[in-house]
Amino acid sequence: MGNWHAESESKTNDEPSTFPSNTIKGEGGDLRYCQKCALYKPPRAHHCRVCKTCVLRMDHHCVWINNCVGHANYKVFFLFTLYTVAACFHSLALLLGFVYDVHRGQIHNGGSVKISHIICGLVVFPLCLALGVLLVWHIYLILQNKTTIEHYEGVRATWIAKKAGNNYKHPYDLGIYENLISVLGPNIACWVWPTTSHIGSGTQFLASHENKHPDRSLTS
Ligand SMILES: [Zn+2]
Ligand SMILES: [Zn+2]
Repeated sequence: MGNWHAESESKTNDEPSTFPSNTIKGEGGDLRYCQKCALYKPPRAHHCRVCKTCVLRMDHHCVWINNCVGHANYKVFFLFTLYTVAACFHSLALLLGFVYDVHRGQIHNGGSVKISHIICGLVVFPLCLALGVLLVWHIYLILQNKTTIEHYEGVRATWIAKKAGNNYKHPYDLGIYENLISVLGPNIACWVWPTTSHIGSGTQFLASHENKHPDRSLTS
């Protein structure tokens, strides 16, 4: 095991205000252990039942790409969603433009919208809606440096903390700009390209309580 265990897992739940509590498992600060893999696992890793293995910084298992979305491919998945949404809205704009022209009588195709355009609309409208919501959701997650799993863990942790009269803060939320950099990379010009050279090993992550001076060696 790497140093991340020695450095972070030796702490306990008695230090909730400073320690990323979701990097440890159970009461007493046990090491995070995967029963199915029979291995200790790094912070933010989760076991995927479909892939039958632990996935670093796991977000979710996507049935559409038949693969896990996690540390290695999260940026690529996000850009895939972004470009798919752009393509869908482009198609929608073309379709609506066509319908508008037909309505104004500027297109002489018999004066009606063809069945193929109706089918196209029935496909494109729901796609725009569903993928648009998915994109907004992942923008929200990136801005907070959360995974989908961590979001739901955070909901539960917030509820428990409130019951105890405490506040819960997502431990990896470094601020909007740092969060964007951690997912999309330090070079803004590369944010829209599927580069992954910045992502590091995926076994260590800078937490918000740690030195803000980006110790990139943690993730490199
Ligand atoms: Zn596992
Ligand atoms: Zn999976």
